[in-house]
Amino acid sequence: MDEKLEPIYDEVLRRNPGEAEFHQAVREVIESLGPVIAKHPEFAERKIIERICEPERQIIFRVPWQDDDGVVHINRGFRVEFNSALGPYKGGLRFHPSVNLGIVKFLGFEQIFKNALTEMPIGGAKGGSDFDPKGRSRDEVMRFCQSFMTELYRHLGEYTDVPAGDIGVGGREIGYLFGQYKRITNRYESGVLTGKGIEWGGALVRTEATGYGAVFFLREMLRARGQDLDDRTCVVSGSGNVAIYAIEKIHQLGGRVVACSDSGGVVHDPKGIDLELLKQIKEVERGRVADYAERRGGEVRYLPGGNIWEIPCEVALPCATQNELTGRDAATLVGNGCIAVSEGANMPTTPEGVDVFLDAGIAYGPGKAANAGGVATSALEMQQNASRDRWSFEATEQRLGEIMRHIHDLCYATADEYGAPGNYVRGANIAGFQRVADAMVALGLV
Ligand code: NDP
Repeated sequence: MDEKLEPIYDEVLRRNPGEAEFHQAVREVIESLGPVIAKHPEFAERKIIERICEPERQIIFRVPWQDDDGVVHINRGFRVEFNSALGPYKGGLRFHPSVNLGIVKFLGFEQIFKNALTEMPIGGAKGGSDFDPKGRSRDEVMRFCQSFMTELYRHLGEYTDVPAGDIGVGGREIGYLFGQYKRITNRYESGVLTGKGIEWGGALVRTEATGYGAVFFLREMLRARGQDLDDRTCVVSGSGNVAIYAIEKIHQLGGRVVACSDSGGVVHDPKGIDLELLKQIKEVERGRVADYAERRGGEVRYLPGGNIWEIPCEVALPCATQNELTGRDAATLVGNGCIAVSEGANMPTTPEGVDVFLDAGIAYGPGKAANAGGVATSALEMQQNASRDRWSFEATEQRLGEIMRHIHDLCYATADEYGAPGNYVRGANIAGFQRVADAMVALGLV
């Protein structure tokens, strides 16, 4: 880290104790910014980095709800509205027992730069709750969502703050959240949430967008090296929204995904994952990958508690959660001949893992850039809501492909300009930061 920037990072540590993931996310960005500050002294003078590291607003609230037996539960809700220099706050909601303020801040911080890279008019935010939807009935999830929105609605609005899904929050939850927002406000304000059902204001391709986008980014990284996905053996961690549609697009582009996972274990299917079966189990039945292995039979192996990164592959897409891929895993992947990693999840690779990939010189696309297709398509959903329009699947997917190519090219060119050719971490951090920083300078002391 540039020594001039060390005090800024130290201050972040001091002001945000115990928030390890937030520290990690901030550190990675600040480590990239030395040359930018040298070139743009106005950013230092105006204390842009210090301001970017401090959320504009943080909301923490109680979420009481009753289960099907009438037992009362209390969860904690969060919304961190991090930066609105480029547009209304935008970023998903996560429902998972691991959610705490530090996790939401890391995600919100990443979101600022990711959203900037899309070049859409959206600021950065994130939210969620430590509610665990696993094993809960549909009615329990609905009551939770209604209670959550009963507090959060007053902070939202299509020009203010526009949440979407993330871990544990998919189309069903967005429906319950939107229904409650509509009821409380008496407004059919479609643009207040994205990831809606396509019959009531949602955009085609939003469901697929993060996974597809991560594969489009991968395709661009490979193309820049004169390579492609054809016949490549791939592994994709997770088996949720992002993982499923990453697998779908890899298969469409000629690659073969031989493994995926959930928090219970790993399924290894050497002939290639049967996506229809996986979708049926995960999206319809809300089951586990263990069920997939059992139903698929044949050569398929289920590895309870297994490590997916030990399965040899040429391409890896971490699509589950933060810090799921360690330095050791990265070394295993590189040792097994992996040539490219594209992150569907947010910050899935530890800093040690990132160093291994960069040192090995493989194509490594950090989540901030590689998974930006989800939020970019959310911005397209907002556009459609604002104009009361609905675009076709083909047109929207084409737009997503163009956006991902543009993000790739921007990161690539920026890395080059700052003397780090092929380093998409540097490229994404600098390009995203610069766009937000320019806006913050223009807007005065915000
Ligand atoms: P889902 O809830 O649909 O799926 C998450 C998947 O990851 C599940 O298979 C889940 O397994 C697994 N997982 C979650 N937490 C853990 C954990 N602690 N340990 C092991 N496995 C875990 O979420 P998404 O697919 O939407 O999100 C996945 C990642 O992509 C997250 O990092 C998210 O922030 C990121 N992302 C999502 C976007 C979106 O549009 N949805 C946009 C950009 C990024 P299990 O069911 O067993 O918990």
